[in-house]
Amino acid sequence: MTSPLRLKKALRLFRTGLLCAFLALSCAADSDYPENFILFIGDGMGVAHISAAKIARGNIHLERFSVSGLITTHSASQLVTESAAAATALATGYKTNNRAVSVSAENSPLKTLFEYAKAQGKSVGVVVTSSVTNATPAAFMAHADDRRRQADIAEQIANSDIDVLIGGGWAYFVPDANEGSKRSDHKNLLAALETRMPVILTDDQLPAQTDSQKLAALLAPEGLPKAADRDYSLARLSQIAIEILSKNRRGFVLMVEGSQIDWAAHDHDQQYLISELIDFDEAVGGGLDFAQKDGRTLIVVTADHETGGLALLEGSNKNRQVTSTAFTTTGHTAAMVPLFAYGPGGTRFSGIQDNARIGQTLIELLLKRPLKN
Ligand code: MG
Ligand code: ZN
Repeated sequence: MTSPLRLKKALRLFRTGLLCAFLALSCAADSDYPENFILFIGDGMGVAHISAAKIARGNIHLERFSVSGLITTHSASQLVTESAAAATALATGYKTNNRAVSVSAENSPLKTLFEYAKAQGKSVGVVVTSSVTNATPAAFMAHADDRRRQADIAEQIANSDIDVLIGGGWAYFVPDANEGSKRSDHKNLLAALETRMPVILTDDQLPAQTDSQKLAALLAPEGLPKAADRDYSLARLSQIAIEILSKNRRGFVLMVEGSQIDWAAHDHDQQYLISELIDFDEAVGGGLDFAQKDGRTLIVVTADHETGGLALLEGSNKNRQVTSTAFTTTGHTAAMVPLFAYGPGGTRFSGIQDNARIGQTLIELLLKRPLKN
């Protein structure tokens, strides 16, 4: 005969068992590691910039994230960073001085997320709306003591193991004799790229579908046209990159940058700013759609710093209009910038963190072990 006491005990044990099973499941989910990584960087994208896009749009894809936070952006040398030092922190997990591209403050090369990924057999790619030699993408593909060495950065990119390279900047890849070249030597880096992958220079050549596992698309001499002035969206370029990179069974790492959010804020151009933000947000939406289907993809969205010291002063949600803004600087500020994450490992990107910590966490999720010590 079972006494009520024993029954109670059995019930308690059963409940404990259920709790343990539940915990084990949730722990397994937490310790899940992504196969694919897509890092979206809105250059110069602060909270006010996102707010402006939301007012103009009603709903934005950034609202689909349940994990969010803020990051501090100071560099090793300055409270107010610029894109090279900030991208170095995100790409390597280490702080460096302003203008340094994935080298330490002592000028030694810092191993990047892309280099770690390549060592694991993953494919890597960038999609940007600036020149691909610009500071943000450069920090993922090259090492230089100064971001202004774009000809040297182009040479490093052409000789790197990059699988997808989409953006502007062919001027840095063609020899000095070519019209529009930004090089001061005879090197033809497009030819170097062509030995490894299809290279296209106009958007009408963008593939609807491709069998290739690699692609270089340098669609402008320097930065791409503004979002409002081009027929192809950042979302489309990102989709092409994802389609190509996801052919690799070992996974991929992709960095997508809304480069011109920063330029619009430097120019204090509200319309330009909002259209770049929306172009970026739609690319993020496409990335999220892929990640939701795939289930093994981590999406992280953040910015390198805030640009413009932007304040939104008047407007209307109903009319979807921002009618008055104030920019307090033509440069960058030290304000924290937003962070969003989705997918395996995503919960590690919440709260207030430093930008170098974000870089470390990305590399740790890739290596499945701590980066330091
Ligand atoms: Mg940039
Ligand atoms: Zn800037």
